[in-house]
Amino acid sequence: MAKKIERMIFCAKCDKEMQEIVLPRYEYEDFYVLHHINAYNCNNCGKIFFTESQAKQMKAKTEQLKKHSFGFERKITISGKSLVVTIPIELASHLHIAQGQKVKLYPIANEGLMIRKM
Ligand SMILES: [Zn+2]
Repeated sequence: MAKKIERMIFCAKCDKEMQEIVLPRYEYEDFYVLHHINAYNCNNCGKIFFTESQAKQMKAKTEQLKKHSFGFERKITISGKSLVVTIPIELASHLHIAQGQKVKLYPIANEGLMIRKM
């Protein structure tokens, strides 16, 4: 069995040894939520640090998510002065949203928008 190589990592800000932690959720790229991510944490200032291999793993996991995340094409219609986009029932039930659900809209650069449950 290979011997585990212990690596000591020090906080760039406080020069204290950082502890290995597991983040329950982390967005390496916006809107792609990863779970159980290994990282280093400074107990002194709370800074989070990733090693090169940890960052590489997160990048790979994010690519996987992108490949398997599903999307739906919709055409924008109009209702009064507002534009309307319908949410397919498959997506609504996947997200556990129904009529009356409050949501918040956020622009994403000039590319589009994100809808988040409130
Ligand atoms: Zn620190």
